[in-house]
Amino acid sequence: MRPLTEREIRSAFLNCTKGEAKRLAVPRDLADRPWDDLDFLGWRDPQAPDRAYLVTELAGRPQALALRCPAPAPWQTRRSMCSICLTDHTNGVTLMVAPKAGKAGQQGNSVGTYLCDDLSCSLYVRGKKDTGLFARYHESLTTEEKIRRTTDNLAAFLTKVTA
Ligand SMILES: [Zn+2]
Repeated sequence: MRPLTEREIRSAFLNCTKGEAKRLAVPRDLADRPWDDLDFLGWRDPQAPDRAYLVTELAGRPQALALRCPAPAPWQTRRSMCSICLTDHTNGVTLMVAPKAGKAGQQGNSVGTYLCDDLSCSLYVRGKKDTGLFARYHESLTTEEKIRRTTDNLAAFLTKVTA
């Protein structure tokens, strides 16, 4: 994706107030991020580990989501596969919950998805980062097909949040 500036990112949030978007933690090293290899930029708030954010470009404009990472309830089975990039992780993936955009979000509605803990889906899909696990099954998809699947899954998630 094309490199984004802090200002573009802050004004791209779909599911939080303008005030929150102004205050939330945006990485300081935006210029050093591997934008060419990213379908979306995702990050955790270093001061608040239960907060995560992601920004992507859809329909020609940046769109960003604020996410919460609630501690898993004891009865929840730990999932190991990211729902966005379908990468397997030994330490599990993190449930991230996005408040819905607009009124639905104000009424407490949210949408959850299981995501790579470090939100580095783009790098796993491209083989730029690995989980230390042998693939559980051999996938015959090309990197381009995996990238398309990842961006499709992400777009579907954004659609659910804004629906
Ligand atoms: Zn992932």
